[in-house]
Amino acid sequence: MYFQQEIDKHFSDISRVAQYLWEKGWAEASAGNFSIGLGRTDLSQNYLFTETSTVDLKTSYPALAGHSFLISGSGSRMRDVAQDPKEHSLLLHIAEDTQKAHCYHHHTCQSKPKASSELDVHLHLHVCNLEQNRPENCVLHAHVSEVIALTQLEEIRSEENINKLLAAIHPEFRLFIPEGVALIPYMESGTLDIAKKTIELSRGKRSMIWEKHGMICFEKDLNSAFDLMDIVAKQAAIYLKLHA
Ligand SMILES: [Zn+2]
Repeated sequence: MYFQQEIDKHFSDISRVAQYLWEKGWAEASAGNFSIGLGRTDLSQNYLFTETSTVDLKTSYPALAGHSFLISGSGSRMRDVAQDPKEHSLLLHIAEDTQKAHCYHHHTCQSKPKASSELDVHLHLHVCNLEQNRPENCVLHAHVSEVIALTQLEEIRSEENINKLLAAIHPEFRLFIPEGVALIPYMESGTLDIAKKTIELSRGKRSMIWEKHGMICFEKDLNSAFDLMDIVAKQAAIYLKLHA
């Protein structure tokens, strides 16, 4: 697929999924973010995106040298992303000096947003993907209300309990997410610590619950990452109804 076709498809997916997140109520204000790995890319001949700035990363990502990611802009509202994904996204290219990244914006983009504050957890997950040769290259984070509510309940705040509960609600949970979900204890967001903890506790899982915060899911495309959230949210909502 040509670069422009690939990028157009991603923008179309971003628009649809951003709209779903907004309609679900999982993306209040500027909540939610995404990244799509494009692999090693040479942007020197590209005419869609223009380099606008460089950014110092919090740590070095040698495995990602030369790779590009289509990511959400900091402060972008998902309801706005849905309307105009090119205006609220950027292309991040990890430099050969792997603690730096080049920021590119679509040639139609006026506001030139910076990278999302959750960038490090996204990049850590992409490193995992490469190291484990996994097919997933899209990361999606949202404030999934049903899951936030579920993790307020003291008695189920363990990974074992939450997986038992989700599997007991509906038989198809195990069909869609046979490996279960990871539960990451509450931590301050946007830090390297939460990125490292998420990797440590995810252990090959695609669906991670951040206690009292939401979910971060890792899949081959954004729609499939949204599916994981939707499946977990459905089980959580039924449990909450039963115990209201
Ligand atoms: Zn968040």
